Amino acid sequence: MHLKDKVALITGAAQGIGRAFAQALLEKGCKVALVDLNVEVGEASKSAFDKEFGTQRSIFIACDVSNEENLKDAFKKADQHFGKLDIVVNNAGVNNEKNWEITVQINLISVIRGTYIGLEYMKNKNKCSEGAIVNVASLAGLIPAAFQPVYCASKHGVIGFTRSIAMFSAAENYGVRINAICPGFVNTPILQSIEKEENMGLYSSHKQDIKDMMEFYGVLDPSLIAEGLIKILEDDTLNGEIMKITTNQGIHFQEYSPLPFQSRK
Ligand code: NAD
Repeated sequence: MHLKDKVALITGAAQGIGRAFAQALLEKGCKVALVDLNVEVGEASKSAFDKEFGTQRSIFIACDVSNEENLKDAFKKADQHFGKLDIVVNNAGVNNEKNWEITVQINLISVIRGTYIGLEYMKNKNKCSEGAIVNVASLAGLIPAAFQPVYCASKHGVIGFTRSIAMFSAAENYGVRINAICPGFVNTPILQSIEKEENMGLYSSHKQDIKDMMEFYGVLDPSLIAEGLIKILEDDTLNGEIMKITTNQGIHFQEYSPLPFQSRK
């Protein structure tokens, strides 16, 4: 996909990885809808982007992705504002093992919903595989995480869903590629959540174990995750792929054995 003049909707774009995604897409000439719950930080990011790229290139849309109507409205606003949608990045996520239901709601259910809504806007519109959906999972979607079991479950769910719906999109010739990104630890505000009892609950006493893991594996810069996103978007051959990003191997892909059964369509 040539990114110039494409329109992207990114959830959780106010800060962290989502903001780095927005920056990278704006640098490539895209227009970007920044969707986030955090109005103050979201508006501040939009102002910073306005200074660098001009006021017409981005829009901030306040939205709680866990609210179905809110999420549908955000897609509608972005589509009406820019006249189309080419790229959806379901990135918003939380780390909360205490109020764990919201972790499943935001990290998994809202990613599934964002994918379905994205497909409704993009399928069969852009021929030649021009639509793209990228779901943000985590390395915790591929391996166990002893002190974040629900976060881990939500990210495993994102990977299973993404690989499956990507096969369906291809079988139906929707013209929308769907992939996922799995970063290791990334230097963003979400890392502060491990310090808080209200986030870690039962696992609070293990925060030092998580810190030790961070030190062992290292912490990535959000700009590297954005590089991974650009790679997925620019390579039209990628569908149903799980990109891993780690300190020791950089950007690479999870290898799977071929599936014995393929759709006849
Ligand atoms: P972050 O906390 O810095 O940013 C997350 C953003 O999502 C925030 O702007 C927040 O306001 C927004 N958000 C949270 N709940 C929302 C909701 N209900 N509706 C709308 N917006 C909401 O975290 P981050 O590290 O940038 O995380 C981005 C994604 O990357 C998440 O899915 C996270 O699980 C994943 N991830 C992060 C790391 C890491 O170490 N930072 C590693 C692997 C995967």
